[in-house]
Amino acid sequence: MNDNSVSSFSVLTSGEAAEKYSSEPVDIAIVGGGPAGYSAAVNAVNRGRTAVIISGDYRESYLYKASSVENMPGMPGQSGAGLLEAFRGHALSMGAVEIPGQVLLIMPFPTGDGTSLFQLAYGNNILAARSVVLTVGASAFKPYPGESHLLGRGVSYCATCDGMLYRGKTTAVIAKSADAVEEAGHLAKIGCKVLFFASAPDMKKWGSHIPDGAFDQIVTASSFEITGEDQVTALIADGSKYTADGVFILRSSIAPDALLPGIDISDGYISVDRSQATSVPGVFAAGDCTGKPLQIAKALGEGLVAALSADAFLAAEERATRD
Ligand SMILES: Cc1cc2nc3c(=O)[nH]c(=O)nc-3n(C[C@H](O)[C@H](O)[C@H](O)COP(=O)(O)OP(=O)(O)OC[C@H]3O[C@@H](n4cnc5c(N)ncnc54)[C@H](O)[C@@H]3O)c2cc1C
Repeated sequence: MNDNSVSSFSVLTSGEAAEKYSSEPVDIAIVGGGPAGYSAAVNAVNRGRTAVIISGDYRESYLYKASSVENMPGMPGQSGAGLLEAFRGHALSMGAVEIPGQVLLIMPFPTGDGTSLFQLAYGNNILAARSVVLTVGASAFKPYPGESHLLGRGVSYCATCDGMLYRGKTTAVIAKSADAVEEAGHLAKIGCKVLFFASAPDMKKWGSHIPDGAFDQIVTASSFEITGEDQVTALIADGSKYTADGVFILRSSIAPDALLPGIDISDGYISVDRSQATSVPGVFAAGDCTGKPLQIAKALGEGLVAALSADAFLAAEERATRD
């Protein structure tokens, strides 16, 4: 993804924002670059708030895949990719900043002075924020058998972050996102034995990007189970057992309750009230991740409400700490 250079109104580049907000909190961190995230960003900036969107490749947005959108009022027949580029361009031109990266964990951080602070871990970096808007889309996956139980005990979602723990050991990589080949390459580079797994359609998309001899084994498989009592011992792929010390599951999205442990979920979607507030104070959610209908207009509207609610939340904290 390019650095933000969409307009002369952009205040910071991605790199500058990543550095600045690693310690000084941004007002509103928006997780996910899709219609809901860009709508939240436009409205956060409109309210005079600093806003950072952290997103995996925004072309992973569901919308990017829509060839023609017929139900956007006033704009029938546009391509999903065209609409998304327009939403993104608008947000960035207003001064919102986008940092490329997948958020792996959000941690509320006690300040003791009545203000909220969150730390968002992405790659090997941290972004500090006073409030958070989750716009991560619908989690189009169920965890594999053994995944939740062994998460943090051999199961990881980030090769860059956890790879060193498996140096000299055997890792199995389940590739479900475009950057998986690169992430698996990182494991090989730091001295892990890498068994690379992908489904037949994904192998067709990415197989040609795998350099000869890059991995110890390349396996086409579509069903997975992770085994081990207290620690991963093996991956079972399409019924065959592969002994492994670590299993890296590289998807473009992470289940919301793994992203923010303790957040209320209902039927797989983040529970919100009419102000888009989640069960965690200071954290709001919008778009497909809050439930049906999974549609653009709903995502845009909820993004707006979430940004206004985050602004109101921050204003209330500012009043309380002033008095
Ligand atoms: C083929 C197809 C056709 C469609 N056609 C229509 C249509 O005609 N009309 C209509 O109204 N809707 C349509 N939709 C639905 C529409 O695309 C979605 O409702 C809309 O994109 C939801 O927006 P969102 O912002 O909530 O999530 P998304 O657009 O899914 O965006 C989520 C973003 O979050 C990022 N992300 C996820 N997890 C993380 C993380 N942990 N860290 C950082 N970033 C993360 C993803 O990479 C992605 O960029 C269609 C969908 C598809 C797949």
